[in-house]
Amino acid sequence: MNDCIFCRIIKGEIPSTKVYEDDLVVAIEDIDPKAPVHTLIIPKRHIETLNELKEEDKNLLGHIILTAKKVAEEKGIVERGYRLVANCLEEAGQSVPHIHFHLLGGRRMNWPPG
Ligand code: AMP
Ligand code: ZN
Repeated sequence: MNDCIFCRIIKGEIPSTKVYEDDLVVAIEDIDPKAPVHTLIIPKRHIETLNELKEEDKNLLGHIILTAKKVAEEKGIVERGYRLVANCLEEAGQSVPHIHFHLLGGRRMNWPPG
């Protein structure tokens, strides 16, 4: 867990551009943005994948989505629209094993995703 890049960002051991923080979550700018707005909403607790989520995490998950909406408002993309994405394991392309939701916006998105 100590070498988890997101845990280290949360502890302040690795620099990041934080746009929001509270007791449960942080939101940081993605280091390799795929859209004009690309912010990651990350729970502070280390949870490896969506598969580890439990009944008692419902509040956290709701909080993550409401945080994404708040960041979208601050970024001025709520009217235009945005996408919230969480990749789970290899086939979806999860590269960091600490759950996070990508808030993407500021350009037209394709569907289906690649
Ligand atoms: P995923 O591939 O869905 O697991 O998403 C991981 C995301 O984390 C990618 O979009 C990366 O660009 C991003 N990322 C990796 N390292 C950092 C970092 N140090 N700071 C900010 N974003 C990062
Ligand atoms: Zn972690």
